[in-house]
Amino acid sequence: MLSWDEFDVEENTSTASATKTKADAVGAQARAAQAAPVAAPKPAPAAPVAPAAPAPTNRMDSATAASPRPVQAEPSESESEVIASEAVQAAIDALEELDLTVGIDELAESAQRVAVDDKRMINCRADLNQLVPFKYDWAWQKYLDGCSNHWMPQEVNMNADIALWKSKTGLTEDERLIVKRNLGFFSTADSLVANNLVLAVYRLITNPECRQYILRQAFEEAIHTHAYQYCIESLAMDEGEIFNMYHEVPSVAKKASWGLKYTQELSDPNFNTGTRETDQALLKNLIAFYCCLEGIFFYCGFTQILSMGRRNKMTGTSEQFQYILRDESMHLNFGIDMINQIKLENPSLWTDKMKEEATQMILQATQLEIEYARDTMPRGVLGMNAPMMEEYLQFIANRRLVQIGLPEQFKGAKNPFPWMSEIMDLRKEKNFFETRVIEYQTGGALSWE
Ligand code: FE
Repeated sequence: MLSWDEFDVEENTSTASATKTKADAVGAQARAAQAAPVAAPKPAPAAPVAPAAPAPTNRMDSATAASPRPVQAEPSESESEVIASEAVQAAIDALEELDLTVGIDELAESAQRVAVDDKRMINCRADLNQLVPFKYDWAWQKYLDGCSNHWMPQEVNMNADIALWKSKTGLTEDERLIVKRNLGFFSTADSLVANNLVLAVYRLITNPECRQYILRQAFEEAIHTHAYQYCIESLAMDEGEIFNMYHEVPSVAKKASWGLKYTQELSDPNFNTGTRETDQALLKNLIAFYCCLEGIFFYCGFTQILSMGRRNKMTGTSEQFQYILRDESMHLNFGIDMINQIKLENPSLWTDKMKEEATQMILQATQLEIEYARDTMPRGVLGMNAPMMEEYLQFIANRRLVQIGLPEQFKGAKNPFPWMSEIMDLRKEKNFFETRVIEYQTGGALSWE
């Protein structure tokens, strides 16, 4: 690797040699012109403009091309230099006329150096391009944690899953239903979350350290969609059937459309926060996507697939879901921190009506997930059944309510799957990642033979 000093030398040398080459070429041209002034052919006068004309592409051009037409000569080297220098001069002229007030006017109210106290989660007028000084250390820390947990789906070995999926007796019909339904739901759900972040939430959260995490989260959502695609491809499933499930299977479609309802208004480019009503609409969106979609809708599927992995079935798919769950629990925690910070900075938004609506949203989401559990587990399977999942989801719902400052709604609900908490324990993350399988094959290279 070059040191900075060597790098400078290298740069200077290459610049100097490029200059020298150009100078040599010009000198050689001059010498040639001097040596044979009469023999040197004169360039055709119309040629320099010719390269700008488009090549014939339509019928009319082809027809015209059939009739004899003078062939336009390629510009000579010196003519090319003239054209190039005209282009350079045009760029210089344009920069001289550049109106520096364009864009700056937009930021006029935020032209100062940013102080911590200027920063706010929403409706902030401070310059959003100045990342520091940090106000919300939790957001920056989550960004760093997210980056240090980076993983890619191809790092997981899917060979055992392929053999098991291909085998006629490896999985029961109920187990196969669970794999297909969950790949169907998740393959589009993470995409809905990513769209909501990029097309609705990002521009409305007016804090750069939170935006930094949102960008990281959006990339993680892309990795999750990639992971589901990788499983679907590896198992040679019918891609159309799986990816279209969120339209075709009611228990999957209901969850997707419930989430979409909360993104519609905000993804309108004309939507803006700034009134109590619009600020509350943003808050509802965050509760819908972080607490309900990522915080409830993912939990039946995660539990089912991870339970399969614990029984040594579909271990590759299960490992993918394990990585995703760790990312998701961080997304959820980040969302809850954002919601609580917005409430703290804007107490007038957290009215009794808003609290009631937020509670209703969490209860509706829980009910939809219970329906999904019944649909995906018509009978007991993998040491669990729909009533156990119902209690687990009520336990999860209580946690979501308390996390945003609302009272529990399911008194005494317990966690029938304590091993799920163990998997999500972030303190174990390091060990988990140290022991991951690192040899991998791409889905396309996998063989069914
Ligand atoms: Fe997520």
